[in-house]
Amino acid sequence: MGDMQRIGFIGLGIMGKPMALNLIAAGYILTVYNRTRIKTGVLEQAGAKLASSPKQVSENSDVIITMVSDSPDVQEIVLGNDGILEGIRHSSVMIDMSTISPSMTKTLSQRLAEKGASMLDAPVSGSSWAAEDGTLSIMVGGDKEVFQKCLPIFETLGKTIVHIGPTGMGQVCKLVNQVIVAGTLASVCEGLLLGSKSGVNLDNVFQAITGGAANSWQLENLGSRIIKRDFAPGFTVKLMLKDQRLINQASEELELPMPVSSIARQFFYALGQKGLGEEGTQSYIKALEEIGETEVK
Ligand code: NAP
Repeated sequence: MGDMQRIGFIGLGIMGKPMALNLIAAGYILTVYNRTRIKTGVLEQAGAKLASSPKQVSENSDVIITMVSDSPDVQEIVLGNDGILEGIRHSSVMIDMSTISPSMTKTLSQRLAEKGASMLDAPVSGSSWAAEDGTLSIMVGGDKEVFQKCLPIFETLGKTIVHIGPTGMGQVCKLVNQVIVAGTLASVCEGLLLGSKSGVNLDNVFQAITGGAANSWQLENLGSRIIKRDFAPGFTVKLMLKDQRLINQASEELELPMPVSSIARQFFYALGQKGLGEEGTQSYIKALEEIGETEVK
């Protein structure tokens, strides 16, 4: 696909950095931008060109990927001063891989369409480890033909790639994902704490139940870290709080009761209040430990 070789990448955080590196390794020509300049060093060494603004990224790219935090951040990068909209060319594609609100996605897609450009929402699941391995799960909303054109790019970044539906539906799929992630994590933590307070050897429990019907990504990847008391982030509490807001908003808009999500959300609020925003979501256990006055051992 000769006209899709020049990729712009904005947002080189926990996820963006390894994703951008994988694109360079696959032979794409990258122009990158990060708000905090110091994080661009590794990309520059790998051969990426540096841009001084999102506008400059879009001027130099056929496809612009954004991987930043929240809805207002993507809004600023697209519509703000020196934003993508000022530099984007007719027929260019913006792929937003951040997790943001479906409604902001639709607004931005509309603004880009007025310039003759397209937008796909393509949030991901699988944590930083999957970003590094290029095995992310990618859920895509937007025009199917544009999706097909971008498929080689998605295949560089992920393993499971699904076109979900029209604009915004990738983000809706990601909300479904996060509802299940948070509820599962809450249960993993309760189960491990029950085992610990009962005095059972948790390594043995882990070995037994990961082979049975209770296994899950959360148990395998975060349960194991909880047992080792490793709270380094693959996915931070702060970003989970952002996703909890999006879930709550959807629940209210749809007038849909979501009792498990409500309880999980209160615990994430508590973690935020405890100042644990930069830790991994497995720190959920710490809030449970506090009210239960016991610790996983
Ligand atoms: P992160 O490490 O906190 O990185 C966030 C990136 O966004 C940084 O490069 C940051 O720039 C940039 N950014 C934020 N606000 C900005 C703004 N207003 N203008 C310009 N740049 C801005 O987060 P992450 O873990 O990579 O997550 C990125 C997105 O992927 C989030 O939407 C998250 O929900 C989603 N996600 C994450 C995971 C995961 O496991 N980590 C998994 C699936 C999906 P600075 O360097 O200047 O701060």
